[in-house]
Amino acid sequence: MAKKIIVAGLGHGGIAAAALLAEAGYDVTVYEQKEEGTLGYDWTDIFAPKALEIAKIPMPDEDKFEYKEDMTFFAPSGNTPLRQHVPHDKLEIKMERKDIYDLLIKNAVEKGVKIVYGCEVQKPIMLGNRVAGIRTANGDFFGDLVIDSCGMNSPIRRNLPKSLMIEKEIRRDQKVTIFRAFYNKASDREVEAKFKVMVCNGGVQGISWVASEDEHTDLLIGRFDNDFDMEDVEEFAEYLRPTNPRLGTEIVRGGQFVEIPVRHPLSVMVADGYAAIGDSAFMTVPLIGSGIANSLKAARILAETVINDQAQAFSVESLWKYQVLFYKHIGSGLAPLECIKHLLFKFTFDEIDYCFDSGILNDDNVTMTADFGKIFDLVKFDIPELINKAQKACADPELLKKMLGAGNRITAVTAACLAMPRKWDRRLVEIWAKAYTKAFE
Ligand SMILES: Cc1cc2nc3c(=O)[nH]c(=O)nc-3n(C[C@H](O)[C@H](O)[C@H](O)COP(=O)(O)OP(=O)(O)OC[C@H]3O[C@@H](n4cnc5c(N)ncnc54)[C@H](O)[C@@H]3O)c2cc1C
Repeated sequence: MAKKIIVAGLGHGGIAAAALLAEAGYDVTVYEQKEEGTLGYDWTDIFAPKALEIAKIPMPDEDKFEYKEDMTFFAPSGNTPLRQHVPHDKLEIKMERKDIYDLLIKNAVEKGVKIVYGCEVQKPIMLGNRVAGIRTANGDFFGDLVIDSCGMNSPIRRNLPKSLMIEKEIRRDQKVTIFRAFYNKASDREVEAKFKVMVCNGGVQGISWVASEDEHTDLLIGRFDNDFDMEDVEEFAEYLRPTNPRLGTEIVRGGQFVEIPVRHPLSVMVADGYAAIGDSAFMTVPLIGSGIANSLKAARILAETVINDQAQAFSVESLWKYQVLFYKHIGSGLAPLECIKHLLFKFTFDEIDYCFDSGILNDDNVTMTADFGKIFDLVKFDIPELINKAQKACADPELLKKMLGAGNRITAVTAACLAMPRKWDRRLVEIWAKAYTKAFE
């Protein structure tokens, strides 16, 4: 009889892994709290199309996506904009979130995945230290493996016993609160920068964008330090309007507050009968919160680990290979990017301006291609350029101190990633996970 796999939550990585496993002959069922046809948000997302190929998902029809515009970055003063120059073959695609879901679900159902909608997962069912199933509002379900794809606040991860060493909670400073809405287009005036990204503008710690589309103006406000409400949104939009005349006053789509994890991936993401994927394992790029491509790539790694598990027991020993490969190909690039996020928090607004105006940062340093996933995709190892940047940083000792501090932290985090035990050994993993977590503090 085929081994039974439960996917809790219809996250991107979970449904992609479900498809790969069903294709390989497993009996896979996804349990999703929302009703059929209601998944996703009323806006578009940007991700690397190569991830679809990796997860063996067909490209969407041409009328379902477009290529992302280059972004132009502005420091608080706005004096020296920096513009991306992404080569065409490295562009990400932009798709309606609902169309992404349609694509992933169609692919999974065609490969034999069963989906139960309207079924809220409440917690794991434990048999000793093994995750043996899920308790849901519709009853208990048992399986040989539970894939946790319930997102950042997964009730499975949060209810696992402490002995599994899997972090349960995410701290406020490890997530970003986002408000996003499409506003009506207030004017037809041509704009110089169609996709503006503003770093700490308007005296607030955060990143925002205004993207001028043909039909509407896309406003995203992201804040790291505190939550905010509609009054703050209106105040900020009003502040932006004089320099962004196409930003209207009427919300035509979206208009929600949401949260995204912006931290390093889980230090332990597997247990006997359990593997976390996507936002439930914090697989987003810590600097910008993109997580779709990483979740799809992780799906392929997880599915291959499961298929290649000779004993088909899905023990922590065999699933640990998934974590090792995830870190090798993706996680070890993502984790140091959290240190860059910390550095951004430490900079004063004047220091951010100085980085833009002095040339410490240039167009290349903001050019995130579809392959973006590690520091060296932004900062090239070019000795003359690095010396030039260092000389400029030396002019401001306080800034230099912060940059050197971040450099030390990046080195510590990179070393910790490299030191991850290649084979599961509970005691060694425990020591390693503590050291890895400490490297970010
Ligand atoms: C506003 C916003 C914009 C974003 N933009 C981008 C972007 O442009 N590009 C990009 O790459 N990434 C983007 N991301 C991040 C991206 O959405 C995630 O990183 C990615 O989807 C992986 O998350 P996930 O699918 O694992 O989790 P989620 O998207 O959180 O999905 C989890 C699923 O599990 C279900 N679920 C949750 N709890 C339960 C439960 N108790 N029982 C049953 N089901 C449950 C949810 O309903 C949902 O369907 C954005 C995120 C947000 C919030």
